[in-house]
Amino acid sequence: MDFLVLFLFYVTLVLIGIVTICICSKTHYRKGLVRGGAQIISYIIPECLQRAMLKLLHYLFHTRNYTFVLLHLILQGMVYSEYTWEIFGYCQELEFSLHYLLLPYLLLIGNLVFFTLSCVSNPGTITKANELLFLQAYEFDEVMFSKNRKCSTCNLRKPARSKHCSVCNRCVHRFDHHCVWVNNCIGAWNAKYFLLYLLTLTASAATMAVVSTVFLVQLVMLSDLYLETYIDDLGHFQVIDIVFLIQYLFLTFPRIVFMLGFVAMLSFLLGGYLCFTLYLASTNQTTNEWYRGDRTWCQHCPHAARPPSAEPQVHRNIHSRGLWSNLGEIFLPATAHYERKKN
Ligand SMILES: [Zn+2]
Ligand SMILES: [Zn+2]
Repeated sequence: MDFLVLFLFYVTLVLIGIVTICICSKTHYRKGLVRGGAQIISYIIPECLQRAMLKLLHYLFHTRNYTFVLLHLILQGMVYSEYTWEIFGYCQELEFSLHYLLLPYLLLIGNLVFFTLSCVSNPGTITKANELLFLQAYEFDEVMFSKNRKCSTCNLRKPARSKHCSVCNRCVHRFDHHCVWVNNCIGAWNAKYFLLYLLTLTASAATMAVVSTVFLVQLVMLSDLYLETYIDDLGHFQVIDIVFLIQYLFLTFPRIVFMLGFVAMLSFLLGGYLCFTLYLASTNQTTNEWYRGDRTWCQHCPHAARPPSAEPQVHRNIHSRGLWSNLGEIFLPATAHYERKKN
């Protein structure tokens, strides 16, 4: 019993941590939080270790590298191996429909295709040759993106909705974010692959969670486990309850229950992120614009400081053209013909 409570407590803590980081990253509390955290760490950890840690963090998050791509493939390989060697066999014995059991593999193929495309495709790198084309692609709102601004690193004029990616060291058209999991920027030309990658990944995690849950429930029903009794610490007979049942399954099928916990948590997190990405796509915003939007808009926020004489600058989304047009822009970006012509 204690073990299960501790495990659930641990999972809850991790989830709360992730949600807090997501909320704080949107507000200006993040800097204070980071500073406070760094101060605490500096007292506990020796300096040489701190330097090594910073170096590692810099390598992982501020340079292009394949660490997370590899980690992604290893985790996916482990989950699918467990599914193939244990769950698939057991479910076949229990006469589950084969279509139902093969669905995760179908989603895996789709996911790997879109994962590869997200990794290798050009997100819309701005060069001397296509600079003019991108400058005409979107209107300047003069709040978040103003005309005649230059990227000091690339020495190119900055088109509206573009941003310089410090990891890849290039300016990207309709920049969304730099994703470490695909080791590439997400921009106008590969946003569709990224969306489909996220969709298939969420679907494959959710399908696996459903199949594993149905398998365990079926197992409990068939073996009449829930009708059994057990003797507690005081020597009394007790009817098996849900907590005891979960713990019993954990001890009997540790790998399956652990995998189920992992894919269930993943489905929850990926599902949330997918909803956010779909919200941005349907309102024609990029993550970069959504993130910066609040700072331009919030007049009380010290980070959005402006000269007192200036008119209050309110950021408005001027690119939204209705749900279907917005989604269409993700799948058929206005400047895609340039990419085709070049090829
Ligand atoms: Zn640049
Ligand atoms: Zn990048």
